[in-house]
Amino acid sequence: MGGDFRSREANTYRLAEISNEIIDQCVAQGVPFGREYSGYLANRTFGGAQVSRTFYARGQTGQQLLLGAYNSLNAQVNAGNVDVFERTEMLDLIVIDGVARGIVVRDMVSGEISSHFGDAVLLCTGGYSNVFYLSTSAKGCNGSAIWRAYKKGAAFANPSFTQIHPTCIPHAGDYQSKLTLMSESLRNDGRVWVPKKTGDNRPAIEIPEDERDYYLERIYPSFGNMVPRDVASRNAKNVCDEGRGVGPTGRAVYLDFASAIERLGVDVIRDRYGNLFEMYEMIIDEDPYENPMMIYPAPHYTMGGLWVDYDLMSNIPGLFVLGEANFSDHGANRLGASALMQGLADGFFVIPNTLGPYIAKGKHPDVDPSCAEVKEAEKGAKDLIEKLLKVNGTKTVTHFHRELGITMIDKCGMARSEEGLNEAIEKIRKLKKEFWSDVKVLGVGESLNQELEKAGRVADYFDLAELMCLDALRRKESCGGHFREEYKTEEGEARRDDENFCHVTVWEHMGEDQAPQAHKEELEFEYVELTQRSYK
Ligand SMILES: Cc1cc2nc3c(=O)[nH]c(=O)nc-3n(C[C@H](O)[C@H](O)[C@H](O)COP(=O)(O)OP(=O)(O)OC[C@H]3O[C@@H](n4cnc5c(N)ncnc54)[C@H](O)[C@@H]3O)c2cc1C
Repeated sequence: MGGDFRSREANTYRLAEISNEIIDQCVAQGVPFGREYSGYLANRTFGGAQVSRTFYARGQTGQQLLLGAYNSLNAQVNAGNVDVFERTEMLDLIVIDGVARGIVVRDMVSGEISSHFGDAVLLCTGGYSNVFYLSTSAKGCNGSAIWRAYKKGAAFANPSFTQIHPTCIPHAGDYQSKLTLMSESLRNDGRVWVPKKTGDNRPAIEIPEDERDYYLERIYPSFGNMVPRDVASRNAKNVCDEGRGVGPTGRAVYLDFASAIERLGVDVIRDRYGNLFEMYEMIIDEDPYENPMMIYPAPHYTMGGLWVDYDLMSNIPGLFVLGEANFSDHGANRLGASALMQGLADGFFVIPNTLGPYIAKGKHPDVDPSCAEVKEAEKGAKDLIEKLLKVNGTKTVTHFHRELGITMIDKCGMARSEEGLNEAIEKIRKLKKEFWSDVKVLGVGESLNQELEKAGRVADYFDLAELMCLDALRRKESCGGHFREEYKTEEGEARRDDENFCHVTVWEHMGEDQAPQAHKEELEFEYVELTQRSYK
């Protein structure tokens, strides 16, 4: 799993154990995995692996897995087993006598606030990469559900562990709202390079071979372009910091298919990656069969999340957290192809075995909708909306989100330092203060109002961003995607400190404007030996 020894061994073991069943489950759901001529499922390599062991569906594995799961869900909706509440946003968790019993939601069309109750609550609300403003996540993905559960007492684990994916379309300008992921699979055949000279502005095809630096192949001869994502991203940043980046902003590197086309022929490359090449051409307006692609790392996945036990239950009884929303399996370095595997494992194989025993354990009397806990949670949600609308300042929500994102990617992104993180915390606090005195949220609460939705999320991001920085500051070592400038080897690689940091940092909310408290869950390794990762 490549968690860089910062994930629970037992969870990782379980995930590997059930991975075959996940593939069978997805095949049964109709996911069109790539196949050999014989009909057997095909495999390919992925970053961080030297053997072909990844099942795939062309360059669209994630999307196809999603469609498979979505089809199955719809079959259950059709059978009357599942009720779906579309365009509904969870605003708070209802905890009664210390047990999670429901959620408060807002109907995003009418603005109505209501509550839903149950014997248990399952949060499957995804990650928080959008804290960085620009990320590959959909705009609807946000951290509010887990953040508000955290404020209700659910512990948050390893918030600073985030993955910055190396293979994305570079940032083009200040008014962009999203970044586009190109598939990691492209590094199977594409070669990453930058010019050897700084400030070399010649078009890529005019730069001769001996003036190109295929830096991943040079620094990591055994893994080459297939180093793990954190290593590929960090090295792209390094060469751009040296002034050797390409493209209009100088923050991009080439991903070149010329030698693969020469070796395999254009038809093979089109067959493998045609859809991705088309997407690239539509966005960049350049033909990647003729010119190398330009790529740059982008925030993509968050390994941190709400703390859960082996049964996926948080420290609040009855609150279960699944998928990217929890912290469970990835440690500091989520490799490719393992996010959906974990989400599918959690949903299809773990929770069906752990939720039943929890429900069978105790009595769950009906929740009285007029009880103090429900009324308080509903009032809290309404008060927050009113407070946001009342500020009536001069700056848009997006202005604050963008400023926050710039700080986060710069100070708590691919490289972090004590000085930078302290600066970031100060900046975040200032921005938050300014937000609450000068944000302008147009419209009203009782109707469709996307500015209001965004405002609520950005208000949460300030506190979440601060916790990410505190977590990164506390972890005085480098591991996987968490790279502290002060803790590196002579060769510039991540230097772990197993003696002092072989643990999960678990944060407890201590109240509004109070410092959160850090706890430790020590990690025990029974089967694997802690060793230094090397891709050289
Ligand atoms: C472009 C792209 C490609 C990817 N490709 C791969 C891949 O090939 N392989 C792989 O393993 N992983 C891949 N990933 C990562 C993977 O898709 C995610 O980690 C995974 O989808 C997470 O699943 P999830 O169900 O936990 O959360 P999500 O898929 O993020 O779903 C969470 C849902 O909850 C909703 N939600 C959030 N907050 C609230 C709230 N307060 N109230 C109500 N609803 C809420 C969100 O709108 C969303 O619909 C990819 C990600 C991206 C962005």
